[in-house]
Amino acid sequence: MPDATPQAPPPPQSSQPTPKSQSFPCPSCSATMVFDPASGGMKCPYCGVKQALQAAGEVASHSYDEAIKGNHAKQAISDKALQVNCTSCGGSVVFVPPEVAGVCSFCGIAIVAAPKAADPLIAPDAVLPAKIVKNVARDSVKTWLSSRWFAPNALKKMAQQEGISAVYLPFWTYDCDTQSRYTGERGEHYYETEVYEENGERKTREVQHTRWYAAAGQVSRSFDDVLIPATKTVNEKRLNKLQPWNLEELRNYEPAFLAGFKAQRYQLELAEGFGHAQSVMRSEIESDVRSDIGGDEQRVTGIDTKYSNVMFRHLLLPVWLGAYRFQNKAYQVMVNATTGEVQGERPYSVAKITMLILAILLAIMLLVMMSNGKSSHQRYREQNSLPKQEFMMPEHHESISRLRKLPLSISGRAFDLTSDKTVGMQSAIQQT
Ligand SMILES: [Zn+2]
Ligand SMILES: [Zn+2]
Repeated sequence: MPDATPQAPPPPQSSQPTPKSQSFPCPSCSATMVFDPASGGMKCPYCGVKQALQAAGEVASHSYDEAIKGNHAKQAISDKALQVNCTSCGGSVVFVPPEVAGVCSFCGIAIVAAPKAADPLIAPDAVLPAKIVKNVARDSVKTWLSSRWFAPNALKKMAQQEGISAVYLPFWTYDCDTQSRYTGERGEHYYETEVYEENGERKTREVQHTRWYAAAGQVSRSFDDVLIPATKTVNEKRLNKLQPWNLEELRNYEPAFLAGFKAQRYQLELAEGFGHAQSVMRSEIESDVRSDIGGDEQRVTGIDTKYSNVMFRHLLLPVWLGAYRFQNKAYQVMVNATTGEVQGERPYSVAKITMLILAILLAIMLLVMMSNGKSSHQRYREQNSLPKQEFMMPEHHESISRLRKLPLSISGRAFDLTSDKTVGMQSAIQQT
């Protein structure tokens, strides 16, 4: 892991060197170097020696058509890489020893399957190197959790104990040119003067109508880097909220970036990803079509798009991922490892919510008591025309007897409220 602790085993002795089996041997002590987010290069966790990785360069993209025809060679993510599949969530993680995958990064369950050599895949073209170190990411998660209302205390404790792991998530990006023929109608507003009667008086007003004209034409647009997540084991909405990713800082892929990290194998194939990209592009094409039709309103009846010069890249983008299980349900917290943005999910504490509702009810009851007290007191005073001070006691008595009738109706409503607000969470939560 990037933050090696002093308890780490000593570096291998030079009498029994195994540099050949080491993935990234330190030039000084031959221990395994790991990627160091702080420096953006490799670092030996034992002797601290640093090594630069190649500078950023143009990241090549590939022909989509050729890859679909099977003309894009597949290969393992690195020769030393191992792969394990999680039987619980279906996630498949690739890592380079000495990294291990004891617990699934996505669902928090212990992985029992033995790692095997990584399957060949469309190799990553580029990596966005992690910049946030583990301690910083862990602190962000702690801060995020403590700012969540109603998070069970047990969860906060658990989140502190079970760590987080650095995972590169797979993405596809697509570039392409599009040409779209469309048919539709252009609506133009016109106004007519209408005569109407109000209170026996003749009046006129302008009324808006729309005249429709057939419209057809062609629009074209080029797309650059349409980014599509190729993972299914991470909540897509939350993943989108982790944006922006600064793709300007992409580096050409080399296995060294994976040292000390894991990478998820893509779960969305190249063609499936392009389907997602097309739906992203379609909504932009439709707004092009509408502005091409012009007029005051538009109806679009058909768009036929030709996609050409489709190019793709396979990217790995870094997150710190915490997966924890709480009462048998998996929850994820993600940190963008380049910006520190945190997104996550957590259970709610029924006990805390109930306590808040009870506190609100108590406040409402006090308010009701006070206003009832006043009005009854006023009534009493009106009927008896007596000075206020002498009737403090009777007022108090009456309020209390009213109060006895109140709680039933109010608490009935409160329990409805509870079940409404916590629908779907009940099973996950019992106590703090
Ligand atoms: Zn070293
Ligand atoms: Zn899993």
